[in-house]
Amino acid sequence: MRLKEKVALITGAGSGIGREMALLFAREGAGIVVVDINQEDGGRVVEEVVSSGGKACLVRADVSCADDTKAMVDQAEQEFGRLDILVNNAGIMHSEDGDSTSTDEAVWDLTMNVNLKGVFLGCKYGIPALRRSGGGSIINTASFVARVGAATPQVAYTASKGGVLAMTRELAVIHAREGIRVNALCPGPLQTELLMKFLDTEEKKQRRLVHIPMGRFGQAAEMAQAALFLASDESSYVTGSEFLVDGGITAAYVTPE
Ligand code: NAD
Repeated sequence: MRLKEKVALITGAGSGIGREMALLFAREGAGIVVVDINQEDGGRVVEEVVSSGGKACLVRADVSCADDTKAMVDQAEQEFGRLDILVNNAGIMHSEDGDSTSTDEAVWDLTMNVNLKGVFLGCKYGIPALRRSGGGSIINTASFVARVGAATPQVAYTASKGGVLAMTRELAVIHAREGIRVNALCPGPLQTELLMKFLDTEEKKQRRLVHIPMGRFGQAAEMAQAALFLASDESSYVTGSEFLVDGGITAAYVTPE
């Protein structure tokens, strides 16, 4: 088992990538703190972990709220006695996020609060807990869109993920000598509810697919496998990195027919 005796807190673990991470990390021996704003979905994931013999607890929290993020870390330590892995994964992609002229200020603020401030708050309260465990691994879910302009505009989302990458690098440098590694996972376009709700017409889907050398959307489970490497001690010399798991989308200039 690659995460034996470790405790992982995963935000946005009720669905998509976070859910797959929770199930996989539990299979690899970690105790899981399932954090989500959606209590029902989070509860279902806890049940799935427990019914397959793993350990998990549920914390309902809004990652953009300081009191909630402090409480989620407190509960992790109360339940499992320590924290080793912090995955700041919760994120939103607003359906009215467009270009700079069309995007409402409220959409910008909400996106920044969840996607960027949420990562900051997770680290603010999570890092002291990782220190108490003698170090650990932080994984911030960013996106390939932080590296390349997207064909379908989503200015607030893209800017928020760019901020996540910059913050990841800085925190990696600051905390390197405390044994705390900080890396960003950059998924490509995935077959998840989040993206499919945004790419809601066949035309929009094709506009994305045409840029992906592999010619398909990725699966959340493929992101969980990459995150497992960053979470485990196998990545002990990896910090401040942007782990692109994107079917080659950011490597491509022209994709094959
Ligand atoms: P998802 O919508 O399936 O899951 C996101 C989860 O986060 C949901 O369970 C939701 O309830 C929860 N959440 C939303 N707001 C929250 C809040 N304020 N506090 C706590 N929990 C909250 O999405 P996903 O595709 O699994 O996305 C996970 C992460 O991956 C996000 O950060 C997203 O931006 C990123 N990402 C997704 C894709 C993709 O194509 N799906 C690509 C690149 C990056």
